Amino acid sequence: MMDDVKQDLELAQKMQSYSYEPYSDFYVGAVLTTKSGKKYTGCNIANHGIQAICAERVAFVKALSEGEREFERIAVVGSNVRGQGEACLPCGYCRQFMSEFVEANFKVFTVDHQEEKGYQEYKMDELLPFGFEL
Ligand code: ZN
Repeated sequence: MMDDVKQDLELAQKMQSYSYEPYSDFYVGAVLTTKSGKKYTGCNIANHGIQAICAERVAFVKALSEGEREFERIAVVGSNVRGQGEACLPCGYCRQFMSEFVEANFKVFTVDHQEEKGYQEYKMDELLPFGFEL
């Protein structure tokens, strides 16, 4: 599990190179893993005057649009330098979006160079304890 997470974080870091973010210069990469082990990658994409699409939602939309509905974890990194891969957690919009498609124990990982294992780990219900539900 530890090595798998590290590989996801490294791939997320590589995904930062595809970010289209000329307005904020903040580059985010994400790697979503399904319960069957399939990976879907994402990077953030911004447009002038329009809400940016975050890396996490890009990865989810790619997976959802191919019929995936069972998700295990997502790895996210972000930084002002492409490929630097600093700690970055999903924004509020992404937390709500993801919560509709995952279980409470879905894991979110981001890098942490201070931690011995090299990453931080959160459960979905820690990141969004009172998500909107109909
Ligand atoms: Zn977001």
